[in-house]
Amino acid sequence: MGSSKITTHDIKGRAWSFLITDETERQFQGNRGYEDVAEESYSYDSTVGNHRRVKAGDLVVVRNRHEALGIGYIERLDVLTGQQKVRNRCPHCGSTNFKERTTQKVRYWCSPCQRAFPEPREEVIPITTYRAHYGGTWQPLEGCLNKADLTEVTLSQSDQQSIKAMDRARTLVKVAALGVRLPHQDVAMISTHHRPSVLAGGRRRTTTAARRGQDAFRQALVREYGMVCAMTGPAPAEVLEAAHLRPFAVTEQHNVEEGLLLRADVHRLFDAGLLAIRSTLRISVAPSLLGHTEYSALDGVPLHVSVDAPLNRHVIEEHYLATTATW
Ligand SMILES: [Zn+2]
Repeated sequence: MGSSKITTHDIKGRAWSFLITDETERQFQGNRGYEDVAEESYSYDSTVGNHRRVKAGDLVVVRNRHEALGIGYIERLDVLTGQQKVRNRCPHCGSTNFKERTTQKVRYWCSPCQRAFPEPREEVIPITTYRAHYGGTWQPLEGCLNKADLTEVTLSQSDQQSIKAMDRARTLVKVAALGVRLPHQDVAMISTHHRPSVLAGGRRRTTTAARRGQDAFRQALVREYGMVCAMTGPAPAEVLEAAHLRPFAVTEQHNVEEGLLLRADVHRLFDAGLLAIRSTLRISVAPSLLGHTEYSALDGVPLHVSVDAPLNRHVIEEHYLATTATW
């Protein structure tokens, strides 16, 4: 796993987390005519704090209100000066902190001055817009870093900021420990340098649930174990699947204690009864697989889980006996 080593070049530069909300997505669709795809780019403007400090080469964690969605480097930063934006204000006190009400006849309510009004006062302000592109560096995190984990490596703790400064070295160490393998920053920047700005065929990677049949069970396992196959170690999110130690049809419930995160090929072999786990949490490989060196090498290897992993030993034992009985 030499490639997972963090180099001095990787930690050079700054790191940020970018907040994605339904609100910001709508706003940018309206203003720019196209939508940011979370895995590819992030748009912001000069009304957002820290906008001037973000540079190409910086590390970015994209987050929503609850957890981290993914991580990547800024490969390119598009800057558009001389833009305009309409900002709405309360006509009474000038505050921007008012809410639209759907049930009342007078549509808007301003909490700072406690008054209602039918239309906000529109103000056109000059802005600069920014769009940060991650190129091919994006790695899904899918919630294996939650809000508390993020707070640990965030430098600015104000909850109001969309763009927060992060500790770059500590962030890289943290995601590496979760099995996430970012390309090295220097390699990533060189290899993506000549990529055309618009790619035919659309996005290459996606974290969207629908794509991979993402369910709550897999989500829970990713949160528990990171991007790590229990049998083969760190693997891309795209090939990590939730495996049941007992057939789902029997239990009809997804219990993290009865689940393992497995690489797709290993998952198939596990479901086919060709791999089992000894009570010592070491892998047992069926004799019929021993001619395949990649899989026979797994025999006797300890699971890539911590000693206090929430695994139901009794269910593992049952699975082992039932599986090896057929060998
Ligand atoms: Zn007001």
